[in-house]
Amino acid sequence: MEKMTIGWVGLGTMGTPMARNLLNKGFQVCVYNRTREKERELIKLGASSANSLQQLSRISEVVITMVTDDLAVEEVYNGSNGLLADPSPGTLMIDMSTVGTRISKKLAKDCGIKGVRFLEAKVSGSVKPAEEGQLVIMAGGANADYSRALPVFEVLGKRSFHMGEVGIASASKLCLNYFLGLTLQGLAETVLFAQHLNIDTEDILNLLNESALGSGITRLKAQTILSNDYSPAFALKHITKDLTLVQKEGMDFPLFSPLLTSFQRAFQMGYGEQDAISIIRFLVHDFKNAAPFGGIISNKN
Ligand code: NAP
Repeated sequence: MEKMTIGWVGLGTMGTPMARNLLNKGFQVCVYNRTREKERELIKLGASSANSLQQLSRISEVVITMVTDDLAVEEVYNGSNGLLADPSPGTLMIDMSTVGTRISKKLAKDCGIKGVRFLEAKVSGSVKPAEEGQLVIMAGGANADYSRALPVFEVLGKRSFHMGEVGIASASKLCLNYFLGLTLQGLAETVLFAQHLNIDTEDILNLLNESALGSGITRLKAQTILSNDYSPAFALKHITKDLTLVQKEGMDFPLFSPLLTSFQRAFQMGYGEQDAISIIRFLVHDFKNAAPFGGIISNKN
């Protein structure tokens, strides 16, 4: 059976490996990235490239967007020469970016007006699961659109969940990322507290990860802390953006406000482009006069 033509928008940390997997599985992939040089790798692997978003949406059966935030998706869909400038009727647009529930519902409405279908499909998992096609996908939209997208989800992820109508998948993703933010902050504070008590950092991380408290994220971020390499798998700017979205959805529990403040301050201090666990470097910086924290953790870039 001939595979569908996919238009892919957004070749960042996540978009590039995801689109590469589709190419490797025999899909025809046409790419568009705002910074055009980033298309080169996939073009070498056989992808075609569109001159504009408008052209991309005309030639694709399914268009997938994987861009930064609410503003970026709004620009990509509704900007002049954007995806909705002159789309082919019946095209399925799937937004996989982590964005708020309101913008997802708005995009569904905008697509409806233009006679195209819309599905939100959010992902859990960072670069490695993206490279290995092992993401967890949560989708919101009509049953028929979810079924149509399944061959794509089967390549990108190990499991996909159809959560309900558009909005519910974005909401679910924000719940997961609230827990992610708590986990990163908790891990960072725990490691620094252990150092304060003269416990070796590798020892405390091994102990934690072998105990019932260990998780995929604590194991992954332990490696980052021990290697002292904070290049971004999931940039701190993204978790800060996601916690701001969580706030907009009405989160008001006791840990939330200090958590958001912590990531916002780290972002303002210049840690935005580093991995999200560089919150630990920010804490070393922020509390350096308060206690002898931060033995092996350097707060230098
Ligand atoms: P990234 O590396 O920062 O890439 C962002 C992409 O969005 C780039 O291709 C960028 O284009 C494009 N973009 C930004 N603003 C744009 C605009 N106004 N118009 C057109 N394109 C625009 O981000 P990422 O890590 O791949 O993450 C992408 C999305 O997935 C985010 O919503 C993030 O929260 C979510 N997510 C990330 C992870 C992760 O572990 N990294 C996991 C799950 C979900 P340029 O190249 O021109 O800048």
